[in-house]
Amino acid sequence: MKLLEDRIKKEGQALSETVLKVDSFINHQVDSVFMDALGADFAEHFKDAGITKVFTIESSGIAPALMTAEHLHVPLVILKKQTSKILNGNVYQTRITSFTKGTSYELTLFADYIMPEDRILLIDDFLANGEAAMGASRIIEASGATLAGIGILIEKSFQKGRKRLEEAGYTVYSQARIGKLGAGVIEFLPEEEPQAAKRNRQTEPKSGEPPAQTVGKTGSRRAVGAN
Ligand code: 5GP
Repeated sequence: MKLLEDRIKKEGQALSETVLKVDSFINHQVDSVFMDALGADFAEHFKDAGITKVFTIESSGIAPALMTAEHLHVPLVILKKQTSKILNGNVYQTRITSFTKGTSYELTLFADYIMPEDRILLIDDFLANGEAAMGASRIIEASGATLAGIGILIEKSFQKGRKRLEEAGYTVYSQARIGKLGAGVIEFLPEEEPQAAKRNRQTEPKSGEPPAQTVGKTGSRRAVGAN
């Protein structure tokens, strides 16, 4: 998406060969009008995917995800980062290791906000190693719902996340794809093909990714997973 690439070229700062800073319009200060344009683009891309809910992971994904949900006229659900397990709640949980911080957290969803018939569009700001998105997918699959698409603002294509998600059978659309980062260097890959060409891809995971570690409605764990 040219709009996003141009903004990254103008304001993005490569902090290293792996970390891009976009604090001036996405991660710290948020350009609301710009987020609306990104949301409209995601909504257009996934308009025929039967999306019933947009999911994101707190906190940087919230702004573009909310705009996407608004354009699709569906609710937004925010997956929470808890520091420890909730052992007696009606929740799904799975452990994630943060790419930028190197720390772990329990990605958490209150079970009332997902139904087996839901078709979920997951939106996040960055795709690096795919830890966050795979964690969200474990929770979604454990609930019986379908992860019908993944929308990413900035994919760092030199890291393994994209490959991992596609190997698991998910449809991924990234608005900007970075092929190389370094001191003063931000190189983009060509724009993604339209969704129509990808629409028929399968949505069910086929790799050996583990299921979510969950806490069921009774408080007893009912799946063992990725810790
Ligand atoms: P992953 O889970 O794909 O390994 O990493 C994605 C998450 O890590 C994103 O939700 C984002 O918050 C954070 N992240 C990964 N790479 C970057 C980056 O280069 N810059 C910033 N600001 N955040 C990143």
